[in-house]
Amino acid sequence: TPVNFISYFHKVIDRFELTKQENVSFIRDFPDEKIVIEIDQDKITQVLDNIISNALKYSPQGGKITFRVRKKEDHIEVSVSDEGVGIPKSDLSKIFERFYRVDKARSRKLGGTGLGLAIAKEVVIAHGGRIWAESQERKGTTIYFTLPTERVKEDE
Ligand code: ATP
Ligand code: MG
Repeated sequence: TPVNFISYFHKVIDRFELTKQENVSFIRDFPDEKIVIEIDQDKITQVLDNIISNALKYSPQGGKITFRVRKKEDHIEVSVSDEGVGIPKSDLSKIFERFYRVDKARSRKLGGTGLGLAIAKEVVIAHGGRIWAESQERKGTTIYFTLPTERVKEDE
């Protein structure tokens, strides 16, 4: 179904804004223009929920989380940046594999199963998009994904 992506994304973030710790701040950097795209809203919500929970989970006290949407020629690029522990280069591509977790001890303490990003990847690819991560250890992580603005045929 066609969704006004910006207002939808605001609602998803608002839900986290209500429950997050006060010392973490949220920044939204969105285009002014209206962007209507075809998405499975429940599934993309699952993707965003996981990416945002990860950002919160690995953020330090007082950390900043930045949400961005960029309109490109035939897709939008959505990103969530944190100022957390970061991910070593050698692990960057593996975090999208099932059950893969960087630093097992730390991850176990913080909870989770290591499935979140694997599911996110499946959903984004099913929508005709891509997902990737950029990170600097001890500086922070950005998770990016794209969604086509012109809907490709769906195989569900
Ligand atoms: P689940 O999502 O199933 O509850 P999880 O959060 O551990 O568990 P994923 O969301 O798939 O699993 O993430 C995989 C791993 O990638 C995490 O265990 C963590 O090591 C690393 N990771 C993901 N996001 C971040 C982030 N923002 N900063 C640092 N490490 C991250
Ligand atoms: Mg997760």
